[in-house]
Amino acid sequence: MTKAIKEKKPGQRACDERDAKGELCVGHLKRWFAPDEETLKQVGKEVEIYRCERCHTLYRPASTDDSSAGLRFTVRPVSLLGGFLRK
Ligand SMILES: [Zn+2]
Repeated sequence: MTKAIKEKKPGQRACDERDAKGELCVGHLKRWFAPDEETLKQVGKEVEIYRCERCHTLYRPASTDDSSAGLRFTVRPVSLLGGFLRK
C-alpha cells in the first residue's frame, strides 16, 4: 500500500489538508526523522520528510522549486530587462 505524500510548498509550515467538513487542518508540519520503510521506499532515503502532527499527512519538500526554478529566477530578470531596453 502506498500513502499519499503531499508536496510541501517552500516555507510552508502548516498542514493544508482538509478534513471531512472541508476545514483546514493547520497542524504543525514537523520533520519526521524516522520514516517507516514504506515511506522510505516511496521517496528515497535522501529526501526530507515532514509529517503533520495533527492528521499525520506526509509532506516532502517541493524539490523542483529549490533547484531548477531557483536558477531561472536569477536569469530571467536580466533577459526581461534586455528585451525591454531593445524596444
Ligand atoms: Zn494535518
